Amino acid sequence: MGCGTSKVLPEPPKDVHLDLVKKVEPYTGYKTDIYKHFIKGDGDAIKSTIPSPPCHTNPYVEQPEPRKNRVAKYRAKFDPRVTAKYDIKALIGRGSFSRVVRVEHKATKQPYAIKLIETKYREGREVCESELCVLRRVRHTNIIQLIEVFETQERVYMVMELATGGELFDRIIAKGSFTERDATRVLQMVLDGVKYLHTLGITHRDLKPENLLYYHPGMDSKIMITDFGLASARKKGDDCLMKTTCGTPEYIAPEILVRKPYTNSVDMWALGVISYILLSGTMPFEDDNRTRLYRQILKGKYSYSGEPWPSVSNLAKDFIDRLLTVDPSDRMTALQALKHPWVVSMAASSSMKNLHRSISQNLLKRASSRCQSTKSAQSTRSSRSTKSNKSRRVRERELRELNLRYQQQYNG
Ligand code: ADP
Ligand code: MG
Repeated sequence: MGCGTSKVLPEPPKDVHLDLVKKVEPYTGYKTDIYKHFIKGDGDAIKSTIPSPPCHTNPYVEQPEPRKNRVAKYRAKFDPRVTAKYDIKALIGRGSFSRVVRVEHKATKQPYAIKLIETKYREGREVCESELCVLRRVRHTNIIQLIEVFETQERVYMVMELATGGELFDRIIAKGSFTERDATRVLQMVLDGVKYLHTLGITHRDLKPENLLYYHPGMDSKIMITDFGLASARKKGDDCLMKTTCGTPEYIAPEILVRKPYTNSVDMWALGVISYILLSGTMPFEDDNRTRLYRQILKGKYSYSGEPWPSVSNLAKDFIDRLLTVDPSDRMTALQALKHPWVVSMAASSSMKNLHRSISQNLLKRASSRCQSTKSAQSTRSSRSTKSNKSRRVRERELRELNLRYQQQYNG
């Protein structure tokens, strides 16, 4: 979620071609899958119905010739050391410098994820270095585990545990019900991971719903923190202050915006934003204009008006308030957040209220209004390409389909 959720980090040069996997689309031949409901911030697009096959089947067995060829071509571009050990199955994620594919270990048949990062350019190299430096140090149940790394001159392949349960918000939407108790469960797991990172002197710096993945599709799945591309690891003897301006706009803490040296409490701010979204389906700070957005953040200006806030407990709001505190020294630490009465009591007093309807409606409303704003922006820009008009039409169609699904769900 976010306005494009583009990370604040140097843009890749125009001629960067993530040529390895960009031509391969996710497989779409199966009806049921965990990657079905995609609501992401990439250009505010709603991607729905992007199924991929169950892990044990070969997704390409009955594919028409052109797709087969495409897949073969793209597989051929993987480093032979990788393909000697792993079968490349499907593309499951894209980032600014990376592609994430689902693979299967040839000998054990165990599924994994491979994150492939282009390191030809400085930005990709830096992201990759940060990520590897952190992943090599961590081992925690709520953090994606690095298995092994293959490096070539221009690419790095990180083999990681595969999370098959989808991103946090896809799951909430698919789930059909969501209570404060559910929110505290999610936050407890994320806080456990963040507390561990902070104890090691690691600051994630890009905590957001897209980087929180469910391990498996079952109801009892744990949540795992991924994407350490912007993470900072304190070296021995360093003070704990950081200076780089980075993050995803809607989740950036005020002290980063004013370019003050900052600490790991920037992660706690981001968790405040995530908690707010988790309980309402809306963003605490939102504006298409970056300057206005940053002004809201600097003032710490957000409200609890509109649905479902009247149904949300004061304890939950107190939890958010103590994270969205402009002064970082007054903000809760991960340990304090874990001990907050709302988390400790597992929202006992309000756990039965189902906030799902409002949350998912807000997510839809937000996505649809962003479609509208794209429309009006387009009318003022005469040089829009047919391609972006097409993607808008696709987004609108997807929105309509998603709306219909929810109406059916509520009426049925
Ligand atoms: P980026 O730094 O480019 O944002 P991420 O590490 O966040 O890259 O990966 C992009 C997307 O790929 C994620 O949002 C997620 O949907 C998917 N993904 C990443 N790692 C895994 C994994 N280990 N298991 C399953 N999906 C993953
Ligand atoms: Mg990411």
